[in-house]
Amino acid sequence: MARWLLAFAGIAALAAAFAQSRDAVRRIENTFADWNNANSAIDTIDSGLDSPGAATAPNRDRKGAFGLFGKDRAQWEQIYNVKYKDLAAALKSLQPGDVAPGDVRAVKVMRKRVASSPATRASTQGSLKPAAACRDASRKNLPAAALHDAMYACFDELGNQIEFEGANLTRLSALDLLSRIDDPSRRKALFAAFTPLWQAVNGNDEPDSPYRRMIALSGGKKSKERSPVAEAAEEAGAPPEQMETWLVAILSAWRDASRTESMEPWDFRYRGGEADRLLSSAIPRESLQPLSEHYYRDLGADLKTIGVLYDLDPRPGKAPLAYSDVARWGRMMDGAWQPTIPRVSANYQHGGLGALNELVHELGHAVHYAALRTRPAFMDVSALFTEAFADVTSWNTYDPAWQKKYLGRAAPEATSQRSLYTGVILDVAWSLFEIRMLRDPRADPNQVWTAITSQYLHIKPHPEYSWWAVRVQLVESPGYMLNYGIGGILTADMRGRIQEKLGPFETGNPKWYAFVSEHLLRWGLDRDTPGVLREFLGRPVSPDALIGQIRRIAPKPN
Ligand SMILES: [Zn+2]
Repeated sequence: MARWLLAFAGIAALAAAFAQSRDAVRRIENTFADWNNANSAIDTIDSGLDSPGAATAPNRDRKGAFGLFGKDRAQWEQIYNVKYKDLAAALKSLQPGDVAPGDVRAVKVMRKRVASSPATRASTQGSLKPAAACRDASRKNLPAAALHDAMYACFDELGNQIEFEGANLTRLSALDLLSRIDDPSRRKALFAAFTPLWQAVNGNDEPDSPYRRMIALSGGKKSKERSPVAEAAEEAGAPPEQMETWLVAILSAWRDASRTESMEPWDFRYRGGEADRLLSSAIPRESLQPLSEHYYRDLGADLKTIGVLYDLDPRPGKAPLAYSDVARWGRMMDGAWQPTIPRVSANYQHGGLGALNELVHELGHAVHYAALRTRPAFMDVSALFTEAFADVTSWNTYDPAWQKKYLGRAAPEATSQRSLYTGVILDVAWSLFEIRMLRDPRADPNQVWTAITSQYLHIKPHPEYSWWAVRVQLVESPGYMLNYGIGGILTADMRGRIQEKLGPFETGNPKWYAFVSEHLLRWGLDRDTPGVLREFLGRPVSPDALIGQIRRIAPKPN
């Protein structure tokens, strides 16, 4: 009896302590939500959403200064600074034994976020707006962060000012044009027009070129942290060494299926670009947003109701890559859900299938953000899963039935699939490139890229060109390309399973958004990606679906 009483008293004391800690964690989490929203508001304002040519500013005060949700940048900054201080102190004072089991993960996530965030947001540093000068990339003694920033700025200053035949092209327009110009010598000239960008990123491929210095620095830094390869592997639910095996298997499938004689690098996108050529006149610039909105509406996701903010026109000084983020995170306020407001930033000079595919992908992130229904600590998405999910819808732009419905005409199926997997396989090639560069930072990137592209993509060796250096992620966040290359594996798996459980969704399916929200999206960081996918697929992730689809691009025997 006495022992029982004692045990009961112990449990009661423990329960009381946990109840108290739950209150403490809840208070901390409210501060976290306030801080996180100030952070998002500052990023949104710094992105230049109110610049001439950008989307309508959601909230302009009477004096005409840009603000967001009733506050200008200085006011948001003030909130950020105060909340950061409170949050850091409260998280620090929380004792490990005081945290109830149900709160451990939330506390861990918040601690990680705070540790990786600046204490103040006085400068635009940290947002995706370029904050440095490209010319600084050639300074040999630059520390890692400054070197990243300088190379990132090169993609704005040079990458979005590709001079070709008297015109200035954005990077996306120039790459798209490479798939459309019929004359091989003009293609070669356009390819060569990337030279200023390649040189800014990788000099003349000398051992202390900006990119090679940066990889050496990230190699050193990452030895203490987890490598991006290990992170992608963890999210895919496979051991790190499996990543390279998977990528090589996919590239080998492409090599065998795409049976062709070897080609010049400026011809690769053209060979895979027939669908883009056939359909580009059906996709003018101004149709990109309405077409995407129409498709998502047919999937049960009304982007107007969700309230997505768009900033789709190119302008100097803007983030040189397409991305999605949120202007405000959703949360429970006075017993009601205040919705998340996603935003999309891109640089669309022209229309075309490539641009449309990219916008549908970005809006895939937007609907992902809007579908999160969880506590403030978990209101975020993880990189591999969100990149993979964003392609669940965007791959349908290469489906003839989709094209017929939304564009009024379609490219033949074989042609469309070839176009789609040309983009996918390049991402896979870049992923393998990054794995090999991160493993051996002293390797010569032009040689590494030449080996991959000649071995698997039938591309003639041109180690004199740093023609791999056309993706912002390579300099902004080394290793990020794995989220696309490995992401394709998850995309193919998720698409197959959605089809099995829900039926076709190429041309819309009103139940699609509710279904994916319920089975894939709502948890945010509350659940690990491998667990969510194992439950959804009924098995671990496997590259078989993607490999099977790539095999189908092989020319049919007559
Ligand atoms: Zn994305």
